[in-house]
Amino acid sequence: MKKIGIICAMDNEFALIKQALAHGRTAQIGRCTFYCAEYAGKDIIAATGGIGKVNAAACAQMMISNFGVECIVFSGVAGALSDKLHIFDIIVANDVMYHDLFPASLLRDNFPNCDCFPTDARLAELAETVCTELGLHCIRGRVVSGDQFITDSIVKARIISDTHGDATEMEGAAVGHVCYLNNLPFAILRCISDGADDNGEMDFDTFVEQAAHRCAKLTLGLVERI
Ligand code: SAH
Repeated sequence: MKKIGIICAMDNEFALIKQALAHGRTAQIGRCTFYCAEYAGKDIIAATGGIGKVNAAACAQMMISNFGVECIVFSGVAGALSDKLHIFDIIVANDVMYHDLFPASLLRDNFPNCDCFPTDARLAELAETVCTELGLHCIRGRVVSGDQFITDSIVKARIISDTHGDATEMEGAAVGHVCYLNNLPFAILRCISDGADDNGEMDFDTFVEQAAHRCAKLTLGLVERI
């Protein structure tokens, strides 16, 4: 793969990636700014797409339609659902689904007949290898998305029982959904910033910068090896 898309939701998740691409140019599509540069012998198109599912979906489709990216990597932070995940751990998604689409069978029983979008196995394996090299604790699992910042233990418990997710955030399933529709391989890489529980808001504020930095480092390492 020669042309790779990288999406983050927030500027702090994007900082290190933007720095690595500083020698390139920017392109404007509507209100979205794309950073285009060669990195590790690949053409990278990267953007802060904004928070939430629609922002992420629009950004992914713009990258595909306007720049012809061959895969998309999402890099950012997430709240832990699984007890196995602690602050600063990495989750490399095996698949992504919505936790706020009811009933989930709507996408299964109608087009596109899929409600759980599988990530690219090769990209996920490579990401896991890079984690080992960087000394980052990593698990593979399910990432679930919705338009809600989860900071409530009761809501968290409901999401776990509905989805069997390992981590929650607000963009991954939208990117996965768009990539699925386009037959495009994708990876969702997340570093844990909080426990999506009653302490979640304070933890997020404390750990978001460092968690975002770790995930961006992993993402650049992955791009070097693709
Ligand atoms: N308090 C922050 C919240 C930003 S939303 C603010 O007002 O700026 C949280 C962002 O981090 C989203 O992009 C989402 O993908 C991710 N995220 C991290 N922890 C999360 C959680 N517990 N629930 C949902 N999204 C979370």
